[in-house]
Amino acid sequence: MTSRTQDVIERSEHWGAHNYHPLPVVLTKGQGAFVWDIEGKKYLDMLSCYSALSHGHCHPRILAAAQKQMEQITLTSRAFHNVPYAEFCEKISRLSGLDMALPMNSGAEAVETALKAARAWGYRIKKVPQDKARIIAAKGNFHGRTIAIVSFSTEQAYREPFGPMAPGFDMVPFGDADALENAITPETVAFLVEPIQGEGGIIIPPDGYLKRVREICTKHNVLMMLDEVQTGLARTGKMFAFEHEPGVKPDVLILGKALGGGLLPVSACVGTREVMSTFQPGEHGSTFGGMPLSMAVANEALDVLIQDELAERSARLGAEVVARLRQAKAPGVREIRGRGLLIGIEFEDFMGGAMNVAQALMHKGVLAKDTRVNTMRLAPALTIDESDLFEAVDTVIATIRQVASTKSS
Ligand SMILES: *Cc1c(COP(=O)(O)O)cnc(C)c1O
Repeated sequence: MTSRTQDVIERSEHWGAHNYHPLPVVLTKGQGAFVWDIEGKKYLDMLSCYSALSHGHCHPRILAAAQKQMEQITLTSRAFHNVPYAEFCEKISRLSGLDMALPMNSGAEAVETALKAARAWGYRIKKVPQDKARIIAAKGNFHGRTIAIVSFSTEQAYREPFGPMAPGFDMVPFGDADALENAITPETVAFLVEPIQGEGGIIIPPDGYLKRVREICTKHNVLMMLDEVQTGLARTGKMFAFEHEPGVKPDVLILGKALGGGLLPVSACVGTREVMSTFQPGEHGSTFGGMPLSMAVANEALDVLIQDELAERSARLGAEVVARLRQAKAPGVREIRGRGLLIGIEFEDFMGGAMNVAQALMHKGVLAKDTRVNTMRLAPALTIDESDLFEAVDTVIATIRQVASTKSS
């Protein structure tokens, strides 16, 4: 590590709160699937900001759309109308097959929006007694970091120092539709779930799970709310992960990450007219949510996904990566899970955590990170060159072998 890298890290550690544990690399430039550090060393970015960089770094079309909008108007507040907002709400509603959108900034804010929508719908439409509404969530979930959201996290570290927790949430095991049905009471207004648990370690539920969830929610008049902040927008090989199961459509869909095209924080809560109409003026809002610059960027980000057929690309390349990883039969690997270019490699305990592999990979010019100790996530830009991708997969396999040999000897 040179003094320039060390200096940045030391100042960050001294002046910045320690709520992350970053790899010791300082990034100064990004282009497509590649990034460069402050020393000029090039890396392939296999994390892509947890899918927020699905278009790659500094996508030229998205940069141009942002530039164009920046020269017109960037911020209006929702006290006035703006053109890109109208275009975005129509575009995302049509694309998802839903009726109305409410744009926010971070994923957590869009989840909060969905929780508020569900409660308001519960009181005004389902007629649940005031302050009695309950929302069911899945164990092992990740929906963000606000107090309300960590109140239904099952990760000790997310909750423990932050109590008291918000009431009104019930937990069921992920992937177990019967458990969901058993947990529903007359006061249940919604079930909030990720189609694939991303931060939870790329956990894919049994086939038919979402279809059963849809049926159960319909039968009991409970809203099905899908958090597709990570799985949405072509990441898993479909525009939305719920499309993997025919006939499934949520009542509320939560989007974020890639919606910002790698440039800005943009999120949205999209839903049926019945649910989204429960919001009355003044009941919910955001200073920056729906601002023209964010909306112009999101509109272009969506157009790029559609026109460049990135969902199809993700499906094809993801299947090939999973096949290669499985074929390698590398020691120390317990399981390989993936859908599209959202892939998890779970290691055996003797490997000492996925962090070990991630650190060795960094030295070989590939950036990836652990999620939940033993699993390493591979989620490159959907625009990545095929040859770059398969070269990186070879590097990953070689690195796993190398780490395994030092651990088992
Ligand atoms: C990242 C993520 C969030 C939170 O998004 P932020 O922008 O970090 O607030 C919510 N849900 C899922 C599934 C996520 O992956």
